[in-house]
Parts: sequence; C-alpha cells; structure tokens
Amino acid sequence: MKTAIYPGSFDPITLGHLNIIKRAALCFDKLIVCVMVNSQKHGLFTPEERVELIRKVVSQLPNVEVDCASVLLAEYARRRRARVIVKGLRAVSDFESEVQMAMVNRKLNPNVDTIFMPSHEKYTYLSSTVVKEMVRYGAELSDFLPREIIEDVKQKMQGSGREL
Ligand code: ADP
Repeated sequence: MKTAIYPGSFDPITLGHLNIIKRAALCFDKLIVCVMVNSQKHGLFTPEERVELIRKVVSQLPNVEVDCASVLLAEYARRRRARVIVKGLRAVSDFESEVQMAMVNRKLNPNVDTIFMPSHEKYTYLSSTVVKEMVRYGAELSDFLPREIIEDVKQKMQGSGREL
C-alpha cells in the first residue's frame, strides 16, 4: 500500500490545502493529512480543533485520514510506514525552505522522499494567514475557505478577540 503524508499547520485548512489533498489522494492508496504540532508556535486553533475542521472537509474522501503529531515529521513517517511526504508549492519563495526541509527529512529517515505539487493557479496567493486577515476584515470567504468550515472560523475569530 502506497501511503503519503501531507503535513502542515492548517490553522485553518484553506481551499489551497484542500486542492492539494484532493490531487494527492488520487496519486496514493492512502493520504494522511497530519497537523504538525509546534510547541513554540501557538495558532488560532488548537491542534485538535484543526483536526476537526480538516475532518469536516475531507469526509467524502475515503482514502484520506486526518491525524495530529508532535514528533519530528521524519519519525512520524517511519511510524506510519509512509515513504512519501507531499508538499504544496505556491511560489519560488516556498521552494528554498521546502527543499532544505526535504533534505533534512531524508537525512533523518532515508526511506522517505518529498514530492512537490504546484499550487493550483487559483490559490497561489492563499495562506492561512491571508485567510485570518480576510476574516478579520469581514471579507467574503467562499473563495478562500471550504464552505463547511466558514462559520466555525468566523465564530472562532469573534470569540478569540485576538490581534492576529
Ligand atoms: P500556511 O500556514 O502557509 O498556509 P501550512 O503549514 O498550513 O501553510 O501548509 C502546509 C502545506 O500546504 C505546505 O506544503 C504549504 O506549502 C502548502 N500550502 C499552503 N497553502 C497552499 C496553497 N494555497 N496552495 C498549495 N499549497 C499550499
């Protein structure tokens, strides 16, 4: 069975992430979308909330599993017996750090390789940070967020009272 991992912060999941998930799910038997927990970085949503939002959005994709991990990605891949890490590339600016991460991960786990998928041109400008900015200013969100989670994200932002 060919298993791949799509890691990220997903704070929250956007239409750009979802596009990569759908395309990657067609390429592998199983795709694990994994919220990587970084204890130094506190997002808007807790890791558990991010997992719930992703689950809502991928419920119709039978070969997609959602998980959360606080270990190194290379170690997580080993535990899940996955040989492939999928990364989305929006712009050249993503490239340098992503290639560096891919090399680190291969050094830590020689059985794992990283595959890059170019972002759909509709979503190259999209990031979770941009989405949070749009919510804050009351923008229309249907071009940025999966419709199933628009209300959840709005409510969370209203409740958090945080400057993001
Ligand atoms: P961000 O906070 O910048 O949205 P994440 O850490 O959640 O980033 O992203 C996880 C993965 O998804 C990374 O590989 C990132 O390059 C990719 N990604 C993020 N946004 C997009 C997008 N709009 N199109 C394609 N890939 C994306």
